[in-house]
Amino acid sequence: SRQNRVRNFSIIAHIDHGKSTLADRLIEETGLLTEREMKEQILDNMDLERERGITIKLQTTRLVYKAKDGNEYILNLIDTPGHVDFNYEVSRSLAACEGALLVVDAAQGIEAQTLANVYLALDQDLEIIPVINKIDLPSARPEEIKKEIEDVIGLDCSDIPLISAKEGINIEDVLESIVQKIPAPKGDSGAPLKALIFDSFYDSYKGVTAYIRVVEGTIKPGMKIKMMATDKEFEVSEVGIFTPSQVPVDELRAGDVGYVTASIKNVRDARVGDTITEADRPANKPLPGYKKVTPMVYCGVYPAEGEDFNNVKDALEKLQVNDAALTFEPETSAALGFGFRCGFLGLLHMEIIQERLEREFDLNIITTAPSVIYKIKKKDGEIINIQNPTNLPPLTEIEYMEEPIVESSIMAPKEYVGPIMELCQARRGTLKNMEYLDQTRVVLHYDLPLNEVIYDFFDALKSKTKGFASLDYELKGYERSDLVKLDILINKEVVDAFSIIVHREKAYERGRSIAEKLKETIPRHLFAIPIQAAIGSKIVARETVKALRKDVLAKCYGGDVSRKKKLLQKQKEGKKRMRQLGNVEVPQEAFLSVLKFD
Ligand code: GDP
Ligand code: MG
Repeated sequence: SRQNRVRNFSIIAHIDHGKSTLADRLIEETGLLTEREMKEQILDNMDLERERGITIKLQTTRLVYKAKDGNEYILNLIDTPGHVDFNYEVSRSLAACEGALLVVDAAQGIEAQTLANVYLALDQDLEIIPVINKIDLPSARPEEIKKEIEDVIGLDCSDIPLISAKEGINIEDVLESIVQKIPAPKGDSGAPLKALIFDSFYDSYKGVTAYIRVVEGTIKPGMKIKMMATDKEFEVSEVGIFTPSQVPVDELRAGDVGYVTASIKNVRDARVGDTITEADRPANKPLPGYKKVTPMVYCGVYPAEGEDFNNVKDALEKLQVNDAALTFEPETSAALGFGFRCGFLGLLHMEIIQERLEREFDLNIITTAPSVIYKIKKKDGEIINIQNPTNLPPLTEIEYMEEPIVESSIMAPKEYVGPIMELCQARRGTLKNMEYLDQTRVVLHYDLPLNEVIYDFFDALKSKTKGFASLDYELKGYERSDLVKLDILINKEVVDAFSIIVHREKAYERGRSIAEKLKETIPRHLFAIPIQAAIGSKIVARETVKALRKDVLAKCYGGDVSRKKKLLQKQKEGKKRMRQLGNVEVPQEAFLSVLKFD
């Protein structure tokens, strides 16, 4: 049957080991349509989509491969993100598959995220096919890496494909392994419908498009469907496949991967992780959804000057539909006005959301320093969670504070052990143990406070190890800690958006570094601007932005008219991203500069 010739798989790898390059190569070496489909001139459809300017997601692609056994196979490649922040996203992609290609760099070998991804794939009971990539590199050592994969992960490497994704070497071995080793999807096309939503996006023409894996039953246009989490019902308007643009088909059956649209206008009605069933013949229970993820890092997101609060709200709502890990709620800041406190999986997740708000939604936003969640035990016995330093109760009301600790593993060549230990020590880490992976590489297990990790830790690690170290971490729990709130005063006024919670021993150093950075980024005004860092009423650092000198001013106000105009124009452009705090103009850059350590 057709179902026997479907293979659903993901590619997992440590970053830079060649996942994207291999995906491109697989697409190149296969067709995107079956022989029958090609006759039906589906290409017109794709053009139409292009004209309408629908965003085509490249993440999921259906490939058609004519295998050595003479049969045509349908391979659904479901992409996964490859970063420590996104374990949750990886597992949701993996839930739609039966197998995973594990790409390992022939020169680098196993790294922290290689292992983390393997664990996620094992959690989903996937067939894992190891592949050694970059065999063209002079530094490639495929035989050693083979042994490493066998010893460390325990996968059989007797017929492992040795490939170069870049040079297109031995790609067919990979395709044959997929066909031979990954099981065909199970599931009964005649059973009541169960389809897992593993991704979705919104556009104003079709409403929500849900990316689905049909696990049981069949879904087709005209069918009344029900979302099992919300009980909301819709009529299917279209189902289709990805080539990677959307191509409508008559139906999707058990085992298939594709999309469904059903005039779903509210992004909340097609949640990633939910199960779609048939309204008239519902399944009795939904598929196991995803483990609920809790954000680890929070920051304030505020509309920049002149930007509408509601536009930011709409954009966040739309991003949230396919990113359940993003949370937000309204908050107000004395300095920045109305905005949102947003929760993220980690710093990269935060940066990506910021960038998407600016690029995809064309919004100007200002973000505040990231914070983790602190637990505060108050003297009256109450325990509260704080994600915004501004909400910290007065010290006199606090009995003690706790901060989140992560268990981290850092892999690196052994010559970097010294610098890594130095860094972890400086970041208040506790060494748990250290083990050798092979003769040249070690794994260090450190417990680290999360607030040190989100503070530029990854960049610092990379620079101390020339890029050779890799990092993975997960939340361990909370520990008591001597924390204080560090306030920043600009022109004698506390700017709440700059406040951070830090360990007491770090407060002086951080205060000084922030004051220095702000001094560099805040432009000169007509008056001198003191910048201070303070714990309570105690000033721990101080800098001054000097006043503009008179002769500089003379240039602005004397001279010919055209030059004056030019200067004014320039000033106007520069102002776009400024924020008025009291009578001081602070550029958006300043809010970002406080995050970087260097
Ligand atoms: P990803 O982060 O896992 O998606 O990795 P990419 O596919 O983006 O590849 C990372 C880098 O490795 C890029 O510069 C690629 O050109 C390079 N690369 C990928 N495959 C090969 C290969 O087979 N040989 C060599 N020499 N370089 C490769
Ligand atoms: Mg990539």
